[in-house]
Amino acid sequence: MGIDMTGTFGADFLVRWLAAVAEAVDREAEHLTELDSAIGDADHGANLTRGFAAVTETLAKEPPATPGAVLASAGRQLISTVGGASGPLYGTLLRRTGKTLGDGDRVTREQLAEALGSGVAAVAQLGGAQVGDKTMLDALVPAVQGLRESFAAARAAAEEGALATVPLRARKGRASYLGERSVGHQDPGATSSALLFAALDETALAEAGRTEGAS
Ligand code: ADP
Ligand code: MG
Repeated sequence: MGIDMTGTFGADFLVRWLAAVAEAVDREAEHLTELDSAIGDADHGANLTRGFAAVTETLAKEPPATPGAVLASAGRQLISTVGGASGPLYGTLLRRTGKTLGDGDRVTREQLAEALGSGVAAVAQLGGAQVGDKTMLDALVPAVQGLRESFAAARAAAEEGALATVPLRARKGRASYLGERSVGHQDPGATSSALLFAALDETALAEAGRTEGAS
């Protein structure tokens, strides 16, 4: 289980992560849409299913050589295929993260956490939101913090952050038009962000198994 301590991973790991995200958003599409129908316009599941399907399709057709390039490609696909707010926001997250990773062949968990930190900052800048505004940032910010410790901590922090959006009043995005009526519902974007980090943890666990199997 060296990956949390000393492991490094290459482009293939990031591709497996994004494939796991595509699977997760597809599996959870109905739930995400249900959440978005309560405080939005009921398209979050469809938006992300379409976006991540395009991501995996492009990665399969034109596999990038480095982790940074994988994330940059994924970010571009999300921006160009998702019409809703979440497309440019998730697209910016991945594109900026990829840019920050640069063109190294391998990255560590710590480097990924660092780079995702810059991606999350770009999301905050683009959307003008901060933690507590009932957006994806409520899951993303604690997740990146947790990732400095472990993949499992990132996953748990994201899930906790998503749940913590329930009592909040939305101050950004479509849900903010509802004012007080947004209280009592879990934010769809924070929920999908938790899926991203659950998929990352699962990919890391599978990677540890692969590494052990190979040695
Ligand atoms: P749309 O709101 O355009 O229909 P989606 O339904 O795909 O887009 O995504 C909605 C999610 O996007 C929200 O649940 C929220 O988490 C996130 N979001 C919306 N606006 C912002 C913003 N300004 N900053 C951060 N996240 C945002
Ligand atoms: Mg929506």
